[in-house]
Amino acid sequence: MKELESFIGLDFSMHELYVDSNGNCPEFPRYYRLSEKKLKKEQRKLSKMVKGSKNGEKQRIKVAKLHEKVANQRKDFLHKHYMKAMAQSLNFGKSVSDNGWRMFTAFLKYKLEELGKRLIKIDKFFASSQICSACGYQNPETKDLSVREWICPCCQAHHNRDINAAVNIRNEGMRIALA
Ligand SMILES: [Zn+2]
Repeated sequence: MKELESFIGLDFSMHELYVDSNGNCPEFPRYYRLSEKKLKKEQRKLSKMVKGSKNGEKQRIKVAKLHEKVANQRKDFLHKHYMKAMAQSLNFGKSVSDNGWRMFTAFLKYKLEELGKRLIKIDKFFASSQICSACGYQNPETKDLSVREWICPCCQAHHNRDINAAVNIRNEGMRIALA
Protein backbone atom coordinates (compact mmCIF):
# COMPACT_ATOMS: atom_id res chain seq x y z
CA MET A 1 0.00 0.00 0.00
CA LYS A 2 1.20 3.46 -0.89
CA GLU A 3 2.16 5.58 2.06
CA LEU A 4 0.23 8.72 2.85
CA GLU A 5 2.48 11.67 2.28
CA SER A 6 0.71 14.96 2.81
CA PHE A 7 -2.61 16.45 3.77
CA ILE A 8 -4.12 19.85 3.20
CA GLY A 9 -7.42 21.18 4.58
CA LEU A 10 -9.70 23.48 2.60
CA ASP A 11 -12.34 25.67 4.19
CA PHE A 12 -15.01 27.15 1.96
CA SER A 13 -14.81 30.93 1.64
CA MET A 14 -17.47 33.00 -0.10
CA HIS A 15 -15.01 35.44 -1.62
CA GLU A 16 -11.88 33.44 -2.26
CA LEU A 17 -13.41 30.00 -2.90
CA TYR A 18 -11.31 28.51 -0.13
CA VAL A 19 -8.68 29.14 2.50
CA ASP A 20 -6.26 26.26 3.02
CA SER A 21 -4.65 24.99 6.22
CA ASN A 22 -1.42 26.85 5.38
CA GLY A 23 -3.33 30.14 5.20
CA ASN A 24 -3.33 30.43 1.40
CA CYS A 25 -6.25 31.15 -0.89
CA PRO A 26 -6.48 31.30 -4.67
CA GLU A 27 -6.12 34.79 -5.99
CA PHE A 28 -8.42 35.56 -8.88
CA PRO A 29 -6.68 37.49 -11.65
CA ARG A 30 -7.39 41.16 -12.32
CA TYR A 31 -9.16 40.50 -15.62
CA TYR A 32 -11.68 38.36 -13.78
CA ARG A 33 -12.33 40.98 -11.11
CA LEU A 34 -12.79 43.59 -13.82
CA SER A 35 -15.36 41.64 -15.84
CA GLU A 36 -17.17 40.75 -12.64
CA LYS A 37 -17.41 44.46 -11.83
CA LYS A 38 -18.62 45.26 -15.33
CA LEU A 39 -21.28 42.55 -15.12
CA LYS A 40 -22.61 44.02 -11.87
CA LYS A 41 -22.79 47.45 -13.44
CA GLU A 42 -24.69 46.22 -16.49
CA GLN A 43 -27.04 44.20 -14.29
CA ARG A 44 -27.87 47.35 -12.32
CA LYS A 45 -28.57 49.17 -15.57
CA LEU A 46 -30.84 46.36 -16.73
CA SER A 47 -32.82 46.40 -13.50
CA LYS A 48 -33.79 50.01 -14.17
CA MET A 49 -35.01 49.36 -17.72
CA VAL A 50 -38.55 48.64 -18.84
CA LYS A 51 -39.05 44.90 -19.21
CA GLY A 52 -39.85 43.86 -22.79
CA SER A 53 -38.80 47.21 -24.30
CA LYS A 54 -36.35 47.29 -27.20
CA ASN A 55 -33.52 48.72 -25.09
CA GLY A 56 -34.33 46.39 -22.24
CA GLU A 57 -34.06 43.40 -24.56
CA LYS A 58 -30.69 44.63 -25.90
CA GLN A 59 -29.41 45.07 -22.37
CA ARG A 60 -30.68 41.64 -21.35
CA ILE A 61 -28.62 40.04 -24.13
CA LYS A 62 -25.58 42.10 -23.18
CA VAL A 63 -25.85 40.94 -19.57
CA ALA A 64 -26.32 37.31 -20.62
CA LYS A 65 -23.15 37.46 -22.75
CA LEU A 66 -21.16 39.08 -19.95
CA HIS A 67 -22.46 36.48 -17.56
CA GLU A 68 -21.17 33.72 -19.80
CA LYS A 69 -17.81 35.43 -20.18
CA VAL A 70 -17.36 35.73 -16.41
CA ALA A 71 -18.37 32.09 -15.89
CA ASN A 72 -15.88 30.93 -18.51
CA GLN A 73 -13.07 33.04 -17.09
CA ARG A 74 -13.77 31.66 -13.66
CA LYS A 75 -13.77 28.07 -14.91
CA ASP A 76 -10.59 28.64 -16.87
CA PHE A 77 -8.79 30.21 -13.93
CA LEU A 78 -9.89 27.53 -11.49
CA HIS A 79 -8.80 24.83 -13.88
CA LYS A 80 -5.29 26.28 -14.12
CA HIS A 81 -5.12 26.97 -10.42
CA TYR A 82 -6.14 23.44 -9.45
CA MET A 83 -3.52 21.92 -11.66
CA LYS A 84 -0.96 23.83 -9.63
CA ALA A 85 -2.46 22.96 -6.25
CA MET A 86 -2.76 19.36 -7.30
CA ALA A 87 0.97 18.91 -7.62
CA GLN A 88 1.45 19.71 -3.94
CA SER A 89 -1.25 17.93 -2.05
CA LEU A 90 -2.79 14.61 -1.44
CA ASN A 91 -5.94 15.09 0.54
CA PHE A 92 -8.53 17.81 0.65
CA GLY A 93 -11.43 18.24 3.00
CA LYS A 94 -14.56 20.30 2.84
CA SER A 95 -17.79 20.83 4.69
CA VAL A 96 -20.06 23.37 2.99
CA SER A 97 -21.41 23.17 -0.51
CA ASP A 98 -22.66 25.62 -3.10
CA ASN A 99 -22.60 25.54 -6.88
CA GLY A 100 -19.06 26.73 -7.39
CA TRP A 101 -17.84 24.57 -4.58
CA ARG A 102 -19.56 21.49 -5.97
CA MET A 103 -18.01 22.08 -9.37
CA PHE A 104 -14.64 22.63 -7.75
CA THR A 105 -14.73 19.48 -5.63
CA ALA A 106 -16.03 17.31 -8.48
CA PHE A 107 -13.16 18.51 -10.64
CA LEU A 108 -10.69 18.15 -7.79
CA LYS A 109 -11.79 14.59 -7.06
CA TYR A 110 -11.40 13.61 -10.68
CA LYS A 111 -7.97 15.24 -11.00
CA LEU A 112 -6.70 13.81 -7.71
CA GLU A 113 -7.76 10.30 -8.66
CA GLU A 114 -5.96 10.65 -11.96
CA LEU A 115 -2.82 11.30 -9.92
CA GLY A 116 -3.44 8.44 -7.52
CA LYS A 117 -4.44 10.89 -4.79
CA ARG A 118 -7.58 11.24 -2.78
CA LEU A 119 -10.27 13.76 -1.87
CA ILE A 120 -11.80 13.37 1.58
CA LYS A 121 -15.00 15.21 2.41
CA ILE A 122 -15.69 16.10 6.00
CA ASP A 123 -19.10 15.72 7.61
CA LYS A 124 -20.95 18.99 7.11
CA PHE A 125 -21.82 19.14 10.80
CA PHE A 126 -18.18 18.88 11.85
CA ALA A 127 -17.58 21.98 14.02
CA SER A 128 -14.50 23.09 12.09
CA SER A 129 -14.90 26.77 12.99
CA GLN A 130 -15.49 26.20 16.71
CA ILE A 131 -12.69 23.84 17.65
CA CYS A 132 -9.30 25.22 18.70
CA SER A 133 -6.85 23.52 16.36
CA ALA A 134 -4.15 23.77 19.02
CA CYS A 135 -5.83 22.14 22.03
CA GLY A 136 -9.21 20.83 20.87
CA TYR A 137 -11.33 23.10 23.06
CA GLN A 138 -14.75 23.84 21.51
CA ASN A 139 -15.56 27.54 21.65
CA PRO A 140 -19.29 28.23 21.09
CA GLU A 141 -18.64 31.97 20.78
CA THR A 142 -17.27 31.39 17.28
CA LYS A 143 -20.75 30.32 16.12
CA ASP A 144 -21.14 34.04 15.54
CA LEU A 145 -19.91 34.40 11.94
CA SER A 146 -18.67 37.93 12.56
CA VAL A 147 -15.93 36.57 14.85
CA ARG A 148 -12.98 36.58 12.43
CA GLU A 149 -10.18 36.29 15.00
CA TRP A 150 -10.28 34.73 18.44
CA ILE A 151 -8.13 33.67 21.35
CA CYS A 152 -8.69 30.21 22.78
CA PRO A 153 -9.91 30.61 26.41
CA CYS A 154 -8.26 27.28 27.22
CA CYS A 155 -4.75 27.45 25.69
CA GLN A 156 -4.58 31.15 24.66
CA ALA A 157 -3.75 30.29 21.03
CA HIS A 158 -4.61 33.12 18.63
CA HIS A 159 -6.75 32.04 15.67
CA ASN A 160 -7.78 33.38 12.31
CA ARG A 161 -11.25 31.91 11.82
CA ASP A 162 -10.76 30.50 8.30
CA ILE A 163 -7.24 29.15 8.74
CA ASN A 164 -8.14 27.50 12.05
CA ALA A 165 -11.15 25.85 10.37
CA ALA A 166 -8.97 24.64 7.49
CA VAL A 167 -6.46 23.13 9.94
CA ASN A 168 -9.27 21.31 11.75
CA ILE A 169 -10.58 20.04 8.41
CA ARG A 170 -7.12 18.80 7.49
CA ASN A 171 -6.78 17.00 10.84
CA GLU A 172 -10.22 15.46 10.49
CA GLY A 173 -9.33 14.31 6.95
CA MET A 174 -6.18 12.70 8.32
CA ARG A 175 -8.13 10.99 11.07
CA ILE A 176 -10.59 9.55 8.51
CA ALA A 177 -7.83 8.51 6.11
CA LEU A 178 -5.75 6.78 8.78
CA ALA A 179 -8.63 5.14 10.68
ZN1 LIG B 1 -6.89 26.00 22.62
